[in-house]
Amino acid sequence: MIRLAVPSQATNSKPLAAPVQRDYLSYSAVRTFQSCPLKYKFRYVDQLPEAVVSASLVFGSALHAAVEHHLRFQLEGETAPGVPQLLQVYRDHVHAAQSQQPIKYPRGEDAAALEEQAARMLTTYLQSELATPVGRILGVEEQVRGGLSPRLPEIMGYADLIFETDEALTVRDFKTAKAKWSLEQANEQSDQLLLYGHLVRDLIPGKPIRLQFAILTKHKTPQTQVLDVQPSMQRLQRTRRIFESVWKAIQSHNYYPVPSPLNCSGCGYRKQCAAWKG
Ligand code: SF4
Repeated sequence: MIRLAVPSQATNSKPLAAPVQRDYLSYSAVRTFQSCPLKYKFRYVDQLPEAVVSASLVFGSALHAAVEHHLRFQLEGETAPGVPQLLQVYRDHVHAAQSQQPIKYPRGEDAAALEEQAARMLTTYLQSELATPVGRILGVEEQVRGGLSPRLPEIMGYADLIFETDEALTVRDFKTAKAKWSLEQANEQSDQLLLYGHLVRDLIPGKPIRLQFAILTKHKTPQTQVLDVQPSMQRLQRTRRIFESVWKAIQSHNYYPVPSPLNCSGCGYRKQCAAWKG
């Protein structure tokens, strides 16, 4: 785990109490609250299991687990595994998810079709620069934790890959996507990466931080892409203010549903939501 000090912006305000059984705040918890406060309550306060999980979510995390497995071998200086072993990691992850709750497949998709897609993507990954980052790998799925604001509990997350070259300390975030991203899209999606860049800033004092997205597309012939995101103090400050506002709302226990087709179609708490009386 990479643990860093609480930041310089000292004020007289004291950190507020943490939510039940959690002494930290994560980016995904904040995003969940922003999309639907009631979903946040079910997931993070009541800690209820979801009735179903979407196939796209399981696919993304299973592929992520396979990539992590591959990079971890390199971190430990061992010969990196090939497609069959990585595909087995993918399968094991899907089976483990299925044993917890049913997987909801969209029309026209099933487990076999997704596994074929995973095999194509892992083959492409292994042939690309994504599989062999240039430099010294310092962390894979590394826990990063530290302060963002004295008004917040510590922020905690997992950086997919941290590696060092002579020029910079790079934090890389892996994404599976339907198509390649534009630079504009990368900057729009960069809040979590900027946050992790902030949390690792003192790992090698004085070393410039580089933030990157590594994209693996779901095309029939998958493609890869590495996109650099420019560190932005203004954007980080905006994220800090968003976290403070969301944390204040969490502290007020003001939970309410935000129904919309986008929010609810993949939500595993629909039953609890329908029964909720406020
Ligand atoms: S079903 Fe929709 S409104 Fe209800 S908790 Fe889930 S996301 Fe929120």
